[in-house]
Amino acid sequence: MPGVGRGCEDGGVTATDDPRLKVGEVRAGVRRGARPGSEQVLAALDPEQREVALAVSGPVVVLAGAGTGKTRAITHRIAYSVLTGQHDPRRALAVTFTARAAGEMRQRLAELGVEGVQARTFHSAALRQLRYFWPRVVGGTIPEILPSKVRLLGPVLRRAHFSDPSLARDVASEIEWAKSSQVVAADYPAASLAARREAPSGLTRDNVADLYRAYEERKADDGLIDFEDVLLLTVGILDTRPDIADEVRSAYRWFTVDEYQDVNPLQQRLLDLWLGDRDDLCVVGDASQTIYTFTGASSSHLVDFRTRYPHATEVRLVRSYRSTPQIVALANRVLSSATGPEAKLRLELRATRTDGPEPQVSAHDDEPAEAAAVAKAIAALIAAGTQAREIAVLYRINAQSEVFEEALGEAGIPYVLRGESAFFERSEVREAVTRIRGAARGGQMSGDLGSDVRSVLSAMSWSADPPSGTGAVRDRWENLLRLVTLADDLGAADPDATLRDLVDDLDQRAATQSAPTADGVTLATVHAAKGLEWDAVFVAGLVAGTFPIQYADTPARLEEERRLFYVACTRARTHLALSWARSRTGRGRRERSPFLDAAVGRATEWSGGADSAVIRGTGSRSAPRTRRGPATCRVCGNALVTGAESARGRCRTCPASYDEALLDRLKAWRTDEAGRRSVPAYVVLTDATLETIATELPADNAALVRIPGIGARKLEAYAEAVLAIVRGDTPSSAVDEPA
Ligand code: ATP
Ligand code: MG
Repeated sequence: MPGVGRGCEDGGVTATDDPRLKVGEVRAGVRRGARPGSEQVLAALDPEQREVALAVSGPVVVLAGAGTGKTRAITHRIAYSVLTGQHDPRRALAVTFTARAAGEMRQRLAELGVEGVQARTFHSAALRQLRYFWPRVVGGTIPEILPSKVRLLGPVLRRAHFSDPSLARDVASEIEWAKSSQVVAADYPAASLAARREAPSGLTRDNVADLYRAYEERKADDGLIDFEDVLLLTVGILDTRPDIADEVRSAYRWFTVDEYQDVNPLQQRLLDLWLGDRDDLCVVGDASQTIYTFTGASSSHLVDFRTRYPHATEVRLVRSYRSTPQIVALANRVLSSATGPEAKLRLELRATRTDGPEPQVSAHDDEPAEAAAVAKAIAALIAAGTQAREIAVLYRINAQSEVFEEALGEAGIPYVLRGESAFFERSEVREAVTRIRGAARGGQMSGDLGSDVRSVLSAMSWSADPPSGTGAVRDRWENLLRLVTLADDLGAADPDATLRDLVDDLDQRAATQSAPTADGVTLATVHAAKGLEWDAVFVAGLVAGTFPIQYADTPARLEEERRLFYVACTRARTHLALSWARSRTGRGRRERSPFLDAAVGRATEWSGGADSAVIRGTGSRSAPRTRRGPATCRVCGNALVTGAESARGRCRTCPASYDEALLDRLKAWRTDEAGRRSVPAYVVLTDATLETIATELPADNAALVRIPGIGARKLEAYAEAVLAIVRGDTPSSAVDEPA
């Protein structure tokens, strides 16, 4: 195994305890020992960034705003210390938060002439160690990793007589928070109370603790481990086996953590165990970009770093290299009203780039009109020469992607969904991953990862030639292409990469919901966009109740939403467009996000005064639509908030009134249909749409198309079958299907 394994197996890395160099000595050492390349590495940095790169030993903390070159500074620091011979690359570990960020860091290091440094997420680094030590500590190979808690929680909830399946996601979040905070089921009620967390609607804290316990039991019965278990088990081994802890510590000497503001207690514990009593740790972060406190992360590790390491070198970066002065000014305005502990470390960004276009703000009558306007603006950017992969549409929650997928699809603009689990749920991807896993176990390799994957996928009739058609066939081909591209990328970054490495990468991507990229406009939640940048960014759906999200009902949560909005706006290099829609589908009236007012520096009108960075909203009304979703709950009459609630036509807490037998028949038909089309079931019709059909019992096309989730295309494809099932007949497509 590379990394720990390599060090442990061949003794290539030994626990040489070099006397710690002080910064001054290091600088002298650099002048003496600099190899070609190291000066160029420094030359690409500004004075503060250079200070980071030169502080090659002892604790270092870099505090900086968005786009000020934090990631660049630490990447160059690693390169510089390796190129000057002060760090052994094989004993350096850089930790990032997403697999994509890790891949980018590996690539940037390779470009700087540095090979061999491990750049991984906490999860991936832990997984490697767990795989390596498991046979010695436990025996055999590590258990399979559960790709999603939600699937396992379904039966757990049903057995506990909770009928609302949408609870699974909320309970999964609570379990993730508890495990990341190292809280066991028995302690959950007290810990959740102390952290002022609300139990999911309809559940008590004790209910959650019981479900957490039952989930753990079921997982153990099935012989599975989950995403957090990878870290918990690694921590457990390092904690209880000093011999193994010593081995790991001798294999890794220099640690770097990017986005340190979002480290959670479990990750911090692992980092502490890796370090032992040493302090060669460089952390970088921006307290104003803390966006994961709901999962247990805390910026206090970053903020209090100097308390823990009083002798740490601290560097602050304030020059924004990413964004135009117009975007920087907007970002500073967004944060100007921030409060809370993170705001104390707020750094005013200073622009360095030349002027660009003013950020745009637009209001629209409904979401389809908003999405159409975004698609039109993207088409114009592409026509003017911006590459699709340099454009992103960001939104608050995954459910918002659909309307943009539709609009971009209709405009013929290629797009890539990020941060979605859907990719890994697709049947062809699951089959491909299973086959790749099997081939990795078989250990047969040609020596070229890309060729190996192509040969595995050829057994699924995949070939490099794209199919002529569109729709499901094309989707299937593109999804498999993403796997091939990923294998090619991994192989290019590390010629020794094996199918096993690819499997690790895929497991980790599945767990972090980070689908491999392909060329196209990125559609992503703001969380998934962390650390990334694009030439043009569209932040859409800026409506009160969505962004900030409705459940951000405490000052602390509201501040987290503000920081999230800051992260969104600071992803843009040159073009930034903010938009919102006055209603979802034409009915009802919504308020724009208060963050918009903060962003444009004025609270009332959109008409753009002399000091305004705003152009007047287009507000263009889309063609009249037949689709109308109920805006209020059909049971209690209250306004509906989330997309899923609107699709179901009732509050999550109100009882369903559908015909259960009919719903079962609809689901059985959907399973067949999904199989026939080789797509996941929800791509045919979502649960919420089926429930509404089983409630409203549409008798004809006109009634069916009024149901949220059914547009012109789905009407054409499914109306006949669905209406037949509602009538009690057998749909003809089921009859046609061979047994
Ligand atoms: P975030 O807070 O979003 O993670 P960051 O502080 O990590 O941002 P980077 O991604 O490292 O910022 O850098 C932002 C952009 O600015 C990148 O395109 C990077 O190449 C560029 N950049 C950083 N430092 C410099 C510099 N000294 N000179 C020129 N460009 C720079
Ligand atoms: Mg960064």
